[in-house]
Amino acid sequence: MEANTPLEIVIVGGGTAGWMVATALVSGLRPHQARVRLVESDDIATVGVGEATIPAMRDYNRFVGIDEVEMLRATNGTFKLGIEFLDWGFKGSNYHHPFGVHGQSIGGAGFHHQWNRARLAGHDFDIEDFSYAIAASRADRFEFPNPNPEAIDSTYSYAYHFDASLYAKFLRKVAESRGLKRTEGKVVDVTLDGASGDVASITLASGEVVKGDFFVDCTGFRGLLIGQTLNSPFEDWTHWLPCDRAWAVPCARAGRFTPFTRSTAREAGWQWRIPLQHRTGNGYVYSSAHISDDEAAAVLLANLDGEALDDPRQVKFKAGRRTASWTCNVMAAGLSSGFLEPLESTSIYLIQIAVMNLLKLFPGKRVEPALVEDFNRRVDMEYDRVRDFLILHYHANTRTDGTLWKQCREMPIPDSLREKLELFRHRGHAPNYRDGLFAMPSWISVLLGQGVTPRGYDPMADNAPLAQTLAELERQRAAITRRVPAMPSHAEFIDRHCA
Ligand SMILES: Cc1cc2nc3c(=O)[nH]c(=O)nc-3n(C[C@H](O)[C@H](O)[C@H](O)COP(=O)(O)OP(=O)(O)OC[C@H]3O[C@@H](n4cnc5c(N)ncnc54)[C@H](O)[C@@H]3O)c2cc1C
Repeated sequence: MEANTPLEIVIVGGGTAGWMVATALVSGLRPHQARVRLVESDDIATVGVGEATIPAMRDYNRFVGIDEVEMLRATNGTFKLGIEFLDWGFKGSNYHHPFGVHGQSIGGAGFHHQWNRARLAGHDFDIEDFSYAIAASRADRFEFPNPNPEAIDSTYSYAYHFDASLYAKFLRKVAESRGLKRTEGKVVDVTLDGASGDVASITLASGEVVKGDFFVDCTGFRGLLIGQTLNSPFEDWTHWLPCDRAWAVPCARAGRFTPFTRSTAREAGWQWRIPLQHRTGNGYVYSSAHISDDEAAAVLLANLDGEALDDPRQVKFKAGRRTASWTCNVMAAGLSSGFLEPLESTSIYLIQIAVMNLLKLFPGKRVEPALVEDFNRRVDMEYDRVRDFLILHYHANTRTDGTLWKQCREMPIPDSLREKLELFRHRGHAPNYRDGLFAMPSWISVLLGQGVTPRGYDPMADNAPLAQTLAELERQRAAITRRVPAMPSHAEFIDRHCA
């Protein structure tokens, strides 16, 4: 192989992962750097779920040059300002994980420290009243954030909900228009290079042999290359995240047209509600050790806000990740690299992370081990952080129904999460990563929402007189209350821009 010929990249799988990877590669690489081909089988269905995202997806769109309004039109999409959690900490509790901050810093100390200082002094402000994203969510309103960073309506971000099957079709059009070659065909055999152990080629049912320098495994839970062929081990996290099945069903659009995802805790798991333009997506994620499949389906169907439009469809899964998502000349993206339940809509983000890191560490024809190590370290870190964040939702609960909740409350948690909980309880210190998930406001909203309250606050907060803090809290709350009613409703905004 010559060093200066383009890298031949073969992506196997055409679900959300395959098409996101394909679109990013053909957008980020020039023809002299790589030739990208995608193989997918019409006989093997995609998982077909995965309809809620997080704001990082806007970076993906910017990188590949996708116009979000065009994307939302093509996928019957809507906007998302965060997630509403019902009954999670205890039955009857309600909190939002908003995309945006709670308040602005006062006297040089972080806002939540000043809020907590006021609370401990007996002034009971609701922290959610200081989030613009939450105020807009409660009012079912949406517009793009104000680009002026001084404005109160610049203090939030947003993501999308969309129809997963339409999204893959949309990306396919984009990728093919930029030179991607697609082949329909089922992979029936994989040939390894005897000397290196790399994947040399795949054989399709038609008999065609597709050779490549580098392969991306997007074959979903099967993990055809990374797992079945290269045996990259799977680290099982079921002991921390016991939900292992979901029923999914669409229903007619009814009730509120919310600019947020709703997650309602149930006896053996939780139910999602995702509003799209033409229907509402619903699902019950549950632990099969705590409820039967039939009961779970019945619970889901009894809790829809419109008529079911199809029979419920079951998906089985296991929480965990590959110990090496990149092994030899194969990188896994999507469900083949690992699975974390959709509670915080992070799987599509993890696909984005994988392909952006692949571009950053782009290999030559011979893969340097240092690239592989660095890639796996970055991907592992992202998985591990999301894992801790998800476990927090289950662990910090005082629910009295169902054995699932008692089990999660009493289970040993990872040390990395235990430390975070102790730091937050001590003086409200929350993780503040330079990049990656989750940002401090997210941790604060879920920690407080799940009932974890700090005993103290950052001593810096005392630099401002308490009276000044209280006046500033009143001012910030009033600014949000005044501005939100001027926003269009989510439905009006969609009708005007992306229907
Ligand atoms: C219940 C549930 C809810 C979810 N909700 C969300 C969410 O809200 N937000 C989010 O970000 N993520 C969510 N996810 C995750 C999300 O659905 C996936 O990350 C995403 O769809 C990517 O799937 P995939 O492309 O890896 O796999 P799949 O969709 O399974 O695609 C696999 C592809 O590989 C092909 N293939 C397989 N074997 C072969 C073969 N032998 N030859 C040729 N082709 C083959 C198939 O034809 C298919 O095209 C959810 C997942 C589940 C299970």
